[in-house]
Amino acid sequence: SELPADPSEINIPRQVEQACFSYVEPKKPSNPSLVHASVEVANSLGLSQEDILSDDFLNTFSGNAIYPKTKPYALAYAGHQFGNWAGQLGDGRAINLTEVLHDDKLYTVQLKGAGPTPYSRTADGFAVLRSSIREHLCAEAMHYLGVPTTRSLSLVLSGDQVLRDVLYNGNPAYEKGAIVCRVAPSFIRFGNFELFASRKDHATLQLLADYSIKHHFSEIKSEGVEKYLDFFKMVTQTTLDMIVQWQRVGFVHGVMNTDNMSIHGITIDYGPYGWLEDYNPNWTPNTTDREYKRYRFGNQPDIALWNLYQLANALYPLINEAKPLEAILNGFGSGYQREYLNMMRNKLGLKISKDEDAVLIEGLTELLQVVETDMTIFFRNLGSVQKEDSIEATLDKIKEAFYNEKDLNESILNKWHTWLQQYIKRINQETLTDDERKLFMNLVNPKYVLRNYMAQLSIDAADKGDYSLLNELFELLKKPYDEQLESQKWFAKRPDWARDKVGCSM
Ligand code: AMP
Ligand code: MG
Ligand code: MG
Repeated sequence: SELPADPSEINIPRQVEQACFSYVEPKKPSNPSLVHASVEVANSLGLSQEDILSDDFLNTFSGNAIYPKTKPYALAYAGHQFGNWAGQLGDGRAINLTEVLHDDKLYTVQLKGAGPTPYSRTADGFAVLRSSIREHLCAEAMHYLGVPTTRSLSLVLSGDQVLRDVLYNGNPAYEKGAIVCRVAPSFIRFGNFELFASRKDHATLQLLADYSIKHHFSEIKSEGVEKYLDFFKMVTQTTLDMIVQWQRVGFVHGVMNTDNMSIHGITIDYGPYGWLEDYNPNWTPNTTDREYKRYRFGNQPDIALWNLYQLANALYPLINEAKPLEAILNGFGSGYQREYLNMMRNKLGLKISKDEDAVLIEGLTELLQVVETDMTIFFRNLGSVQKEDSIEATLDKIKEAFYNEKDLNESILNKWHTWLQQYIKRINQETLTDDERKLFMNLVNPKYVLRNYMAQLSIDAADKGDYSLLNELFELLKKPYDEQLESQKWFAKRPDWARDKVGCSM
């Protein structure tokens, strides 16, 4: 239907029934300016470097102007948050601008932080520079690490002030408003299906499923019930693949609510995420989840499965049979074990698979927790171990990964000796030469990840108008597996001041 003349009228928070989305116009920013853009994402949409610097680009991706013949919209969805049913949520600060078809690929282009929508509930629809930098940097870093993710095209300052906090002295703490343009095949989440299932609106549920399959799962050729089962099977598999990749690089999402789970199995919604520094499966970056640690690193596979159960429940009315859904869900555990084991073998540089590898890997992940050990440095340095190395020489190569060498008492050192002995024995059973294994491991074990303090340093500088570190980190993280010796300072343990400091999601 036609839009009311006054956009504020259509953005009023409300329950939206029997509809997958609402038309919404972004709020015009008062003084938009481009902070950073990803040239590669622009290219994939058919935009050039020149385009990035144009007024059109700034106007379109700040929400200042609506691109001709497009009609921006916000999606309606629901979800389970921290295990509890939360009802209708929806794109409260995200607005889909349009879809782009380029080089036979379909992209949805979405502004995050461009103002309120019918789904904003009690919040303002805006985003601050701090959280937008975290999203822009991390989404692109994840892509270059080879982890399925939404991409980030651009980061723009709106020129407006956004209120996020009230200080202890009662003064409002205004921050710079910012807008990120995210890009993905679609932004459809598990929660989109849950919304209609919860309302028993099976007609719209089917419409959404048919739409999603037709436009985004065109490889599905089956019909009727089979079609929805195939859809669920694919979502389950891509979700599983994504989690294995998170565990490989030490990424902790932090808010794996069902409204933050993409049907494409891509990482979505970079809020209070964090990176494992010391290897601790119980760690979560989410300060609101410190008690139950539901979304801790080691729990991510189980939570993915829990979320898939919610999606299965939501799709059930289209299938009307529990057994085939259960069969798919039951396959998740063994499928995950298999892929996880293979991923860890790769991290250890093992090409041949042996039954005893599971024990070797479990022994290692236990040992990594005994004293604080930097995950990234440990695996990267392990690539330098050679078949003929003595235990002492091997230990010397990985020592850099221990946060406090003084923690290594005799009993712990003995345990390391034993494990390293097994490891050296194991690599001697491989046909790869030392050089070949190192090259192979260096493609699996990144040298550079977006450590929590690195993001924070770039935010502090950007707040003062200095984007040089933001640019530097963006370029560094484009080649996370390369040595980049000139950037060696970022291949370092978290400094002590940054212990357990993570950015905020809002
Ligand atoms: P999140 O935990 O960031 O995934 O957000 C959960 C829900 O809150 C989603 O529906 C978001 O769209 C909404 N939301 C988060 N921040 C804002 C905001 N500043 N304004 C409006 N809605 C928001
Ligand atoms: Mg979200
Ligand atoms: Mg969020």
